[in-house]
Amino acid sequence: MHEATIAQSILNIVTDRLKSVGVAACALSVEIVLGEFRNVDPESLSFAFDSMKDFCPATSNCRLDINVINASALCSENAHNYRPVAELAYRCPACDGGIAKMVHGEELDVVNLIIEVADEEKKHARIAG
Ligand SMILES: [Zn+2]
Repeated sequence: MHEATIAQSILNIVTDRLKSVGVAACALSVEIVLGEFRNVDPESLSFAFDSMKDFCPATSNCRLDINVINASALCSENAHNYRPVAELAYRCPACDGGIAKMVHGEELDVVNLIIEVADEEKKHARIAG
Protein backbone atom coordinates (compact mmCIF):
# COMPACT_ATOMS: atom_id res chain seq x y z
CA MET A 1 0.00 0.00 0.00
CA HIS A 2 0.96 3.57 -0.77
CA GLU A 3 0.54 4.80 2.84
CA ALA A 4 2.55 1.87 4.29
CA THR A 5 5.45 2.71 1.97
CA ILE A 6 5.39 6.33 3.10
CA ALA A 7 5.13 5.32 6.78
CA GLN A 8 8.18 3.09 6.29
CA SER A 9 10.20 5.87 4.72
CA ILE A 10 9.28 8.26 7.56
CA LEU A 11 10.41 5.62 10.06
CA ASN A 12 13.64 5.16 8.07
CA ILE A 13 14.32 8.91 8.30
CA VAL A 14 13.62 8.84 12.05
CA THR A 15 15.92 5.86 12.72
CA ASP A 16 18.68 7.37 10.55
CA ARG A 17 18.52 10.59 12.57
CA LEU A 18 18.56 8.62 15.83
CA LYS A 19 21.71 6.81 14.68
CA SER A 20 23.33 10.12 13.79
CA VAL A 21 22.95 11.34 17.39
CA GLY A 22 25.66 8.86 18.37
CA VAL A 23 24.18 7.95 21.77
CA ALA A 24 21.16 5.86 22.70
CA ALA A 25 18.04 7.88 21.94
CA CYS A 26 14.40 7.33 21.15
CA ALA A 27 11.95 9.37 19.12
CA LEU A 28 9.05 11.14 20.86
CA SER A 29 7.37 12.75 17.90
CA VAL A 30 7.88 13.39 14.23
CA GLU A 31 6.10 16.10 12.31
CA ILE A 32 5.48 16.02 8.57
CA VAL A 33 3.86 18.34 6.07
CA LEU A 34 1.61 16.64 3.55
CA GLY A 35 0.25 18.40 0.48
CA GLU A 36 -3.32 17.46 -0.40
CA PHE A 37 -2.28 16.71 -4.01
CA ARG A 38 -0.06 13.84 -2.85
CA ASN A 39 -3.16 11.64 -2.65
CA VAL A 40 -2.16 10.32 0.74
CA ASP A 41 -4.94 9.70 3.26
CA PRO A 42 -3.73 11.08 6.63
CA GLU A 43 -5.79 8.56 8.61
CA SER A 44 -4.39 5.60 6.66
CA LEU A 45 -0.90 7.02 7.03
CA SER A 46 -1.33 7.40 10.81
CA PHE A 47 -2.68 3.86 11.05
CA ALA A 48 0.21 2.45 9.01
CA PHE A 49 2.75 4.42 11.03
CA ASP A 50 1.31 3.28 14.37
CA SER A 51 1.26 -0.36 13.30
CA MET A 52 4.87 -0.27 12.05
CA LYS A 53 6.60 1.86 14.70
CA ASP A 54 6.55 -0.97 17.27
CA PHE A 55 9.04 -3.00 15.23
CA CYS A 56 11.78 -0.74 16.56
CA PRO A 57 12.02 0.04 20.32
CA ALA A 58 13.46 3.49 19.57
CA THR A 59 10.33 4.52 17.66
CA SER A 60 7.61 2.64 19.56
CA ASN A 61 6.62 5.76 21.54
CA CYS A 62 6.88 8.12 18.60
CA ARG A 63 3.82 10.18 17.71
CA LEU A 64 3.21 11.19 14.10
CA ASP A 65 1.91 14.73 13.57
CA ILE A 66 0.59 15.39 10.08
CA ASN A 67 0.07 18.94 8.84
CA VAL A 68 -2.04 18.83 5.71
CA ILE A 69 -1.23 21.68 3.30
CA ASN A 70 -4.04 22.91 1.04
CA ALA A 71 -3.25 23.01 -2.65
CA SER A 72 -2.76 26.37 -4.30
CA ALA A 73 -1.87 27.18 -7.88
CA LEU A 74 -1.32 30.06 -10.25
CA CYS A 75 -3.68 30.05 -13.23
CA SER A 76 -2.40 30.14 -16.79
CA GLU A 77 -4.52 33.14 -17.87
CA ASN A 78 -4.02 35.77 -15.17
CA ALA A 79 -1.73 34.18 -12.59
CA HIS A 80 -4.56 34.20 -10.06
CA ASN A 81 -3.60 32.31 -6.91
CA TYR A 82 -6.42 29.83 -6.32
CA ARG A 83 -7.18 26.48 -4.77
CA PRO A 84 -7.65 23.87 -7.52
CA VAL A 85 -10.53 21.48 -6.78
CA ALA A 86 -11.80 18.44 -8.65
CA GLU A 87 -15.35 19.90 -8.90
CA LEU A 88 -14.03 22.65 -11.20
CA ALA A 89 -11.68 20.27 -13.05
CA TYR A 90 -8.82 22.08 -11.25
CA ARG A 91 -9.52 25.27 -13.25
CA CYS A 92 -9.41 28.84 -11.93
CA PRO A 93 -12.82 29.91 -10.53
CA ALA A 94 -12.20 33.55 -11.57
CA CYS A 95 -11.23 33.11 -15.21
CA ASP A 96 -11.41 29.36 -16.01
CA GLY A 97 -7.68 29.21 -16.69
CA GLY A 98 -5.75 25.99 -16.15
CA ILE A 99 -2.94 25.34 -13.71
CA ALA A 100 0.24 27.09 -14.81
CA LYS A 101 2.21 26.39 -11.66
CA MET A 102 1.56 24.57 -8.40
CA VAL A 103 2.49 26.71 -5.38
CA HIS A 104 1.49 24.33 -2.61
CA GLY A 105 -0.01 20.88 -2.37
CA GLU A 106 2.82 18.56 -3.39
CA GLU A 107 4.73 18.62 -0.08
CA LEU A 108 5.77 15.45 1.71
CA ASP A 109 8.57 16.24 4.13
CA VAL A 110 9.72 15.56 7.66
CA VAL A 111 9.93 19.05 9.19
CA ASN A 112 10.58 18.32 12.85
CA LEU A 113 11.71 15.46 15.04
CA ILE A 114 11.75 15.42 18.83
CA ILE A 115 13.95 12.82 20.47
CA GLU A 116 14.86 11.85 23.98
CA VAL A 117 18.48 11.01 24.77
CA ALA A 118 18.74 8.11 27.17
CA ASP A 119 21.32 9.54 29.55
CA GLU A 120 20.84 10.26 33.26
CA GLU A 121 19.65 13.83 32.57
CA LYS A 122 17.03 12.73 30.04
CA LYS A 123 17.75 15.70 27.87
CA HIS A 124 15.37 16.53 25.08
CA ALA A 125 16.89 17.33 21.78
CA ARG A 126 15.28 18.87 18.76
CA ILE A 127 16.54 18.16 15.28
CA ALA A 128 15.32 20.37 12.51
CA GLY A 129 14.32 18.75 9.26
ZN1 LIG B 1 -7.51 32.93 -13.17
